[in-house]
Parts: sequence; structure tokens; C-alpha cells
Amino acid sequence: MGKQGDLTLPGDVLSVIEEFTPGEGCYELQGQVRASIIGKVFYDMINRKSNVIPEKKTFVYKLKKAKYMYGLVTSLKEDYAVVAVSSVEERFVSPSITGYLHISQVSHKHVKSLRDAVRPSDVIKARPISYTYPLQLSLRGKDLGVIVASCSICGTVMLKMDEEHLKCPNCGNVETRRVGPYSVKGNGNRS
Ligand SMILES: [Zn+2]
Repeated sequence: MGKQGDLTLPGDVLSVIEEFTPGEGCYELQGQVRASIIGKVFYDMINRKSNVIPEKKTFVYKLKKAKYMYGLVTSLKEDYAVVAVSSVEERFVSPSITGYLHISQVSHKHVKSLRDAVRPSDVIKARPISYTYPLQLSLRGKDLGVIVASCSICGTVMLKMDEEHLKCPNCGNVETRRVGPYSVKGNGNRS
């Protein structure tokens, strides 16, 4: 949910339909009001409508220069992951930008299941491959992939074993990931 005046991007959730109905620059999807354009959120309190006032340049221009981004995987569909991008290079962005990671962009190698590469609540380092919205992300290339992940069984932050495996130091669970420049120190082989 946005705040009055927040920068918003297509697909961002602005409100639930019970709170505000879709006004200018918005649409409804499964009970949620989402932005259809880049702009600033304007909640019309009198008419109970969410609106997006078009924003022309700023963000798109800056994104074009970005070589990498950090984001949180929020959900998995069959062939793509939804990512909330929270940093463009080292610059924190708020609200986060919605990005999509397609299964074909996970690796140069064939990936059978997206779940073997990323899972919800993983933090990833990705490269933007399109600068139109919604943002398209890629993990293909060096120095990209999952940088922090939690154990699917017990929630403990996992340790890196190798480029494709993480191990839980608490319960010993091993999971497959597209492991990137993993940021948690420790040896997953030791426990
Ligand atoms: Zn565990």
C-alpha cells in the first residue's frame, strides 16, 4: 500500500477495492487496486478513489544506467518470480519497484524448476534487462543470484555450500538455489 505522494510503478498495489476504487491511472485485479502508469499516488479521500498522477522522467532515466539491483523475491509463479526491488545499485529505493524474473533468465543452463533457483523471501542480486515496466530481471552472468536465503523448514538463515546448494546450520536441510555473491559468512559443509 502506498502513501499519499509516493512514486509508484505499474503493477504496484495501491489499495484494496473496499478502501478505494480505481481512479485515473489505476486498474483493479483480484480485489486490489493497482497502478497502470508511472506516477505519484493520490488518494482522493472524498470520492474514495486511488489515482496515479503521471510522472514523466526521473525514475526511468536513472534506471537505464543501473547495472544491478537488489530485491526480495515475494512470490513464485510457474515460470517467473515476482521481485520487490529495493536497491538500484547501492541506492535504496522506496517504495520498492516491482520486477519479474523469468525462468529463462535464471542461468545459461537449463533450469527445470524455478524453485530450484529462487524462493520467496530470498534476497537476490539481479541485472535489469528491460527498462520498461514491469522491470525484467536476469540472474545470467557473473556475480548475480541469491545473496541471502532462509531455510524452508525452520527459517534459519542458510549457509553456502557451493554454487548451487545452501545448507541450514540449524536443521541440516540442504536446498538448491542459483547462489550468487552470498553475503552470509560461514561454511555450510561444516555442520
Ligand atoms: Zn533449517
